[in-house]
Amino acid sequence: MTTVAIAGIAGRMGRSIMSVQGEFRDIQITQGVVGSTPFHGVDTVDDASKLNPVDVIVDFATPRGFSAALAAAVRNKSGFVSGSTGLSDEQVEELAAASETIPVLLAANFSVGVNILEHLVESAAKAAQGFDIEVFEAHHRNKVDAPSGTALFLGEAAARGRDAKLNDVAQWARQGHTGARSDEEIGFQVVRGGSVVGEHTVFLLGAGERIELTHRAQDRAIFARGALRAASWIAGKAPGNYTMRDVLFS
Ligand code: NAD
Repeated sequence: MTTVAIAGIAGRMGRSIMSVQGEFRDIQITQGVVGSTPFHGVDTVDDASKLNPVDVIVDFATPRGFSAALAAAVRNKSGFVSGSTGLSDEQVEELAAASETIPVLLAANFSVGVNILEHLVESAAKAAQGFDIEVFEAHHRNKVDAPSGTALFLGEAAARGRDAKLNDVAQWARQGHTGARSDEEIGFQVVRGGSVVGEHTVFLLGAGERIELTHRAQDRAIFARGALRAASWIAGKAPGNYTMRDVLFS
């Protein structure tokens, strides 16, 4: 049995994880960390530093709760699985430092479908010489970071397929007299509204033809299941920085 604590348990993702936990017979969620919203159904603390030791901490507490959850995992020698997006460069460095002593896994998207899509995007970008690449994403009206972590994940795969670094080629926004697009740029379009769980399309636009690689998330439970699958997989692993590729394809 793998014991798990959820940071951000009262949020949308925390609640979704609680609703699918029964599908995982090897996982027992023993505690949760709450922010300003209370949560009933499992023992909660208001600060990750007060967590009892568990095998794995699963973090969906957004960048606001990430560092405290990671520090608790390091202190208790727990595995650490995080889906929080919009992390600062310092927080990404904290995660790299933690991976020296505990197993960690950060995924912008825990769905099996998006992780398969990421493979497809990399190989399509490699083969589609001379095509223009654009990434589109849509999310619900309450999402606070943009472009989504998943859009960046897919953009990085496209850039890798072209032996480029996303930060060198990304075109984050266009407005006014922008001039013609360059060959190498990867453009991002963002839609926010309603209750969209998550939609991503990578366009590869050639002369006279175009490819659209799309993933549509219909239910948050796909992320929740992926996160618990990762938690079950990472328990007892050697210290290191793991990805969903390791969980799904190794
Ligand atoms: P949410 O706003 O519904 O929930 C976040 C929760 O964290 C809230 O209850 C908030 O009170 C709590 N919180 C804030 N600070 C905290 C702290 N210091 N300690 C403990 N809890 C704290 O957001 P959500 O939709 O559940 O998404 C959470 C994060 O996960 C976001 O960053 C989102 O982008 C990301 N996300 C990732 C995936 C994925 O597959 N990786 C999927 C969906 C969402």
